[in-house]
Amino acid sequence: MRDAAGSVLGSVEVAQTVDAAFVRRLADAAGAAVTLRAGPTYSTESTRHREAVVQAAVGVRGNAVADSAPDRYVRRLDPSPGQPLPLALSVPRGEPGGIYAVLVGAVVLAGLLAVIAAWWLARSTTRPLAELGRAADRVAGGDLAARVPVRVRDEVGRLAAAFNRMTRETQSYVRALTASRDQLRNHLAVLGDTLSSTHDLHRILQVILQTALAATGARAGVVLLFDPASGALVAQCAEGLEDPDLRVPVGSGLLGMVAATGEPLRGRIDRDGPPRLDHEPRCRTYVAVPFASPTAGTDLDPPALGVLALYDRLGLDEFDDADLVTLRTFAGQAAVAVDNVRVHEEAQRLSLTDPLTGLWNYRYLKESVRREVERASRFGRMLAVLALDLDRFKEVNDTHGHAAGDAVLTEFARRVRAEVREVDLAFRQGGEEFVVLLPETDARGGATVAQRLGAAIRDTPVEFADGAIGVSVSIGIAVYPDHGVTGAQVLDAADDALYAAKAAGRDTYRIAVDGRRPESRELPVPAGAAPPDDDLPQAGGASPGTHPPRQSRGR
Ligand code: GH3
Ligand code: MG
Ligand code: MG
Repeated sequence: MRDAAGSVLGSVEVAQTVDAAFVRRLADAAGAAVTLRAGPTYSTESTRHREAVVQAAVGVRGNAVADSAPDRYVRRLDPSPGQPLPLALSVPRGEPGGIYAVLVGAVVLAGLLAVIAAWWLARSTTRPLAELGRAADRVAGGDLAARVPVRVRDEVGRLAAAFNRMTRETQSYVRALTASRDQLRNHLAVLGDTLSSTHDLHRILQVILQTALAATGARAGVVLLFDPASGALVAQCAEGLEDPDLRVPVGSGLLGMVAATGEPLRGRIDRDGPPRLDHEPRCRTYVAVPFASPTAGTDLDPPALGVLALYDRLGLDEFDDADLVTLRTFAGQAAVAVDNVRVHEEAQRLSLTDPLTGLWNYRYLKESVRREVERASRFGRMLAVLALDLDRFKEVNDTHGHAAGDAVLTEFARRVRAEVREVDLAFRQGGEEFVVLLPETDARGGATVAQRLGAAIRDTPVEFADGAIGVSVSIGIAVYPDHGVTGAQVLDAADDALYAAKAAGRDTYRIAVDGRRPESRELPVPAGAAPPDDDLPQAGGASPGTHPPRQSRGR
């Protein structure tokens, strides 16, 4: 201690006890084990490493760190100004093996996490896309049953759901199309079979209508034919209509308009009109096409042969041009069918009728007798057969010529037709021989008709260019079942009776002998005798007749 002038005043001594507690405090402050290298040794280092630390510190210079002590880094601190103690600081050496293990563990864990993340990513993104791709391939290959699982509602999930909906709807659409194609195919097959196998016009038109309905998807339809007698279109067949017996005057209403103009119409009833007749089918949409006889050329001379109309296309659409074209095709079929049937009917009529008189011919006689006998037998009725032969007709030809003879035959046929009922059938068997079948008529009824026929030809001479010819007819009557149980037997019996009439002097009639009642005798009716009051064939016992000796003659 000095004064202001620098002269020594005295001295102060300060001491710090160096002991184990002090060293411990140093160690706490330093964060390392502290070992006092001189004097009585104090150390916070473990007893096991204390000596080694002191030894290692010996060889260290300056601030260097010695690592020569096992498991310890050692630093030597020598006394210096402000620090009077020779110290050694030591810290445990780190365990590098443990750190590596931790590092490896961390890397493995990170790898695992990466794999899991990749798996999750693949699961949530790549896999659905791959599934979608495979399903799209199957659909492209025609398998519309392909579906993809929808796991989560993310974008890919929505895409998958939309894909499923699309394929489902396509599938049901294709199913519906396939079903309607099959249905149409069946209809066309039935149409083909029907057209080639029958002349039943009603059946043909019905099948045409059903096929047209199937082809266009319409709810209802009708085929009408023009009826010249009433001037109206008359429904031949209808599907889905309240009134299947529709009649529409040509020129009025929708259908009448189509028939009158020969122009097809399609549209909506509320928008396009024309005004519907009250009794025309109720509908929303319609298409109606006329058809003409194909043999009438291109001339759709109104009114048309008929009209094919469809109503209410299923779904909300109206009929389009394609439907119109389709319907024209079917209308053409209908026209051909009607024509074919009419031609066929005409051909059949011609093949069964006699061209000179227009009466049924011998061919139809055989069939008719068989059919009428069968019918009479089934219903327990009688059938009268009249065999007629003009008297001395050869003389008519010889005197007036063959043409006059033909005129007489024609006029005779006309009078016969006029004298019999609608259910009766008149035939020219050949030459000047005729047959009349009278269903549900007994011998007395037959006699009445015979009288009328005799009078009809006898009373009025046949007029022709050069004058008038008086002719008469002889008639034989036989009845089923009294005179025969087959058509041929009854015809033969009538023939025999005719010869009896000829033998009796002509211009009269005779009734066949009742083979099963030989005792019965004929009550001759004079030629020209008056018919009964009611003028109708009468039921009751047949008039028995005598049977003249049979003459053989060719037919
Ligand atoms: P009857 O029956 O009274 O015994 O005498 P018929 O002169 O009528 O008898 P027959 O059967 O011998 O003669 C039938 C004649 O009818 C013969 C033929 O000249 C005539 N004949 C047959 N077919 C036709 C025909 O198609 N047209 C014409 N004009 N005459 C016919
Ligand atoms: Mg004859
Ligand atoms: Mg004759």
